[in-house]
Formats: sequence, C-alpha cells, structure tokens
Amino acid sequence: MESKKRVVVLGAGFGGLAFCQAFRHPAAEITLVDRQNHHLFQPLLYQVATAGLSAAEIAQPIRSILRDRTDLSVRLGNVESILPTEKRVVVDGNSLPFDYLIFALGGRTSYFGHPEWEAFAPGLKSLADAQRIRREVLLAFEQAENSLDPKEQQRLMTIVVIGGGPTGVELAGACAELAQHVLRQDFRRIDPGQTRVILIEGSHHILGQFPETLGIRGEEQLKALGVEIRCGTLVREISQGTVTLQSGEVIEAGNILWAAGVSASPLTAALGAPRDRAGRVQVRPDLSIPDHPSIFVIGDAIALVDPNGVTVPGVSPAAIQAGQHVARILESELDARPRRVPFRYWDKGSMATIGRSAAVAKMGPLEFSGYPAWLAWLFVHLIFLIGFRNRVAVLWQWFYSYLTYKRGARIITGLKW
Ligand SMILES: Cc1cc2nc3c(=O)[nH]c(=O)nc-3n(C[C@H](O)[C@H](O)[C@H](O)COP(=O)(O)OP(=O)(O)OC[C@H]3O[C@@H](n4cnc5c(N)ncnc54)[C@H](O)[C@@H]3O)c2cc1C
Repeated sequence: MESKKRVVVLGAGFGGLAFCQAFRHPAAEITLVDRQNHHLFQPLLYQVATAGLSAAEIAQPIRSILRDRTDLSVRLGNVESILPTEKRVVVDGNSLPFDYLIFALGGRTSYFGHPEWEAFAPGLKSLADAQRIRREVLLAFEQAENSLDPKEQQRLMTIVVIGGGPTGVELAGACAELAQHVLRQDFRRIDPGQTRVILIEGSHHILGQFPETLGIRGEEQLKALGVEIRCGTLVREISQGTVTLQSGEVIEAGNILWAAGVSASPLTAALGAPRDRAGRVQVRPDLSIPDHPSIFVIGDAIALVDPNGVTVPGVSPAAIQAGQHVARILESELDARPRRVPFRYWDKGSMATIGRSAAVAKMGPLEFSGYPAWLAWLFVHLIFLIGFRNRVAVLWQWFYSYLTYKRGARIITGLKW
C-alpha cells in the first residue's frame, strides 16, 4: 500500500486553519504547527488592549477546533527554518519532512527600519501585545492619580497612536471612549475626561484603504470622540514617553501605541523565492512558489496581483479564501486530476469601527457610516468569531457595555513592586 502524503501546515491563523478545515483526503495525513496553542481572532485584539474583552473571548484552542479530525495532528512548536529542496522544516530543533507544505505564518509588526522603537511603542499583533497595552494604559491612569504634579498627570493621560489605518483608528477611538466614559467616574484626583488621544498619520487622510469620503466620515466620528488627528505628519524619533515629529514638535505621552506597519514573517526568506520590500513572497498564480510546486504560501505572507488585476490584501477573508483554494488544488492533485487554477480574490467589502455606534463600511458599491455601519461591523465580527461560547460571551459583553458604559476586563496583572 502506498504511504500517505505528508501535508505540513505552518501556522493556525486564518489561512492555515481555513486550509485544514477545507482539506480532507484519504491519501493524506496533515500536521499543523503553531507556536501558540490557540487560534486568534486578530480583528478584535484592540478590544482586549482597551479592556472591552478578555483574552479568552477572542481566542480558541487549536486542538479543540480540530478535535474531530483524526487525520490531523497539532504540534505546538516554533518553526525555526525551512529547507525547500530537502523537503523538511525544523521545529524546535527537530526535523519534520513533508510532501506538501502550506506556509501560513502571517506577518509581524514592522517599525520601518527602527526596531528599537518597539520598546517604547508596542504594536498590536498577539494576545501578549494586547495585554501589555492594556496594562500600560490602565497603569498610566493609576500613576496619574498618584501624582501631585498637574503637568505629569497630563503627560500620563496622553495617548499617542501612530498609524491611521483601521487598527490605529480602532485603538484611538476605543482609548478615547475608555477615558471619556468608562474611567471617568472611577478616579478622585484626576479627571480621565481630560485625556488627550492623538492619532498620527503620514498620508493626508486616515483610513487610506477606504474611499476618501469614508476616510473623512471616519475623521469626523473620531473628532466627535475628542481624538486629535494629525494627518500628513511623519514620526522622526520615538524614545521613552516621547514622540518627535518631522516638524520638530515633541509630544510627551504616558502611552505611545504603534499601528503603522506590518511585514511578512521573517521565515519567508528561507523559501528562496522572490519577495517584495515587506518580505512578502511573490507567489505564482496558483499560490505555489517558483521551482517548488509542492510548496504553497497563503495569507499575509503573499504579494500577488490576481488575474482580475486586484492586489490581494492582507486581510482575513483573503487568507481564508487562499487556504480554501490550496485545499482544492491539493485534493485535485491527490485524486490524480490536477487542476492548478489561478487564485482570484473575492472582495466582500471592508469595515472599520470607530466607537459606540460609529463605524465606516464599504460593501460592493455601497458605502455607509455611523450606526448602520457599526451594526454591520458587530454582526460580521460575531459571525466569524470562532466558537459558540465566545460568540455568546462577546455578545453579552458588548450588550452590557452598550447599556452601562462599563468595561469588565480592567484587571491589571504583572505589577512589579
Ligand atoms: C490588530 C489587527 C487587526 C486586524 N483587523 C482586521 C479586520 O478587522 N479585518 C480583517 O479582515 N483583517 C484584519 N486583520 C488582518 C488579519 O488578521 C490577517 O490578514 C490574517 O490574520 C492573516 O492570516 P494568516 O493566516 O496569514 O496569518 P495569522 O492569522 O497571523 O496566523 C499566523 C499564525 O502563524 C503562527 N506563527 C507565526 N510564526 C510562527 C513560527 N515561527 N512558528 C510557529 N508558528 C508561527 C502564529 O502564532 C499564528 O497563529 C487585523 C490584523 C491585526 C494585527
């Protein structure tokens, strides 16, 4: 009897998980490797960072999602290197051979050549990042309450968010709401309502990936929450508690949050395929890499213009669709009816939330903002969140916060005395 084909999937994010859920074949055994034990719903990370949700509500153990798949085993481990010609990967020092490899390791926060800024301006990519931001933001209010110096209090109650894309906008809006509504009653010596949230964006409008009218709507909604927006402004330097702009202006802040850039996993370099400046692999139309038809790259790690001329964006629907596409190719190949069709991205629309009842959305020709966009955002995020328990828990948290202006996940952990 012929031995089964070893299909190794690297990464249990949106792309890797979608592949595993779509791919089944009696002639294949699948190994899924991830360095976290959970699949993370990154679109709601900013809510963990701003105390709206707790970590377990937006993550689900990978083993429990795939528990019924006896043809698949999950390995918790860090992928260290990939050797395409030897057809093996190295996970925690151990060799893992493959017949087919699905590379779905996603991306990471990029500081545009200034990795030293990370120490002063955390990015938002993992649960650990979100919990760090939540701790530091909440702690700054505690320190302001303890301070007797009004100037120091104001510094601690200043939050600078760098990057006016959806993540920066969501973070800025949620920080403003946290200060204006949630914390306002809780302190005696400071007034959290005096918090300054400053959003810095290099181009001339926030939400550059949306039509300009929606970017302007987004700005209006953020300003209504009290967020100060600086467009057309580049950051020159970041140090502990200080942001220096190209104009020479220096902003002192209790928290500086980075939402300005992402690049692909550094392991894309090991594939030996051409890459763009952000490290994304220039895949072939079927998502395989040149010279290695049994190695596929999906999700945030690819740079591809599809046959319709659409640049495939780094968003979760694109990663999911790519995972499903490769699953179909592999099934056809194992059935000895190979069909290497090009990947086409189906754009179902995009949305960003700004705050309570405030959002922008674009779905096909429809562009809308405000309450309808916010309801659509709520609905879409609940539908795609993995796990029934998580959906119920998140729905309840949102309902509770909507009615009471309270946020439950405000526990500060990891204090060092
Ligand atoms: C804060 C934030 C908000 C976002 N909001 C939205 C949104 O509203 N809508 C939207 O569509 N998209 C959004 N995105 C983008 C979306 O999350 C990504 O496009 C999507 O996650 C990409 O899927 P992926 O499978 O390529 O990578 P990921 O989902 O990032 O998965 C990569 C996996 O690889 C694992 N991994 C990485 N390196 C290693 C290693 N060396 N060894 C082992 N495992 C490893 C990681 O643990 C992770 O599980 C957001 C992203 C962020 C960070």
